[in-house]
Amino acid sequence: MTTPIRPQALTPSQVPVTVDADKCIAHKGCTVCVDVCPLDVLAIDLSKGTAYMKFDECWYCMPCEKDCPTGAVHVEIPYLLR
Ligand code: SF4
Ligand code: SF4
Repeated sequence: MTTPIRPQALTPSQVPVTVDADKCIAHKGCTVCVDVCPLDVLAIDLSKGTAYMKFDECWYCMPCEKDCPTGAVHVEIPYLLR
């Protein structure tokens, strides 16, 4: 059996890292998750005032989820990596 290739995300809900817009305080100036990500795949959507996953790539290293002051970030770790 071949290893399945993760499909390219087409919508934000399909990426491994999601942000709860109700909890995110990026509109108050928080950029913690963007700053701690070593891959630089997270970004702030200035029109919505929330963080989001800009590029569908992730090392599952977790500081974005752990360091978010409001617990808004959720990293969905693939089953095979758990
Ligand atoms: S788990 Fe690591 S690589 Fe993935 S978005 Fe968070 S900080 Fe970036
Ligand atoms: S660390 Fe949390 S509150 Fe801050 S921008 Fe990222 S998701 Fe929003």
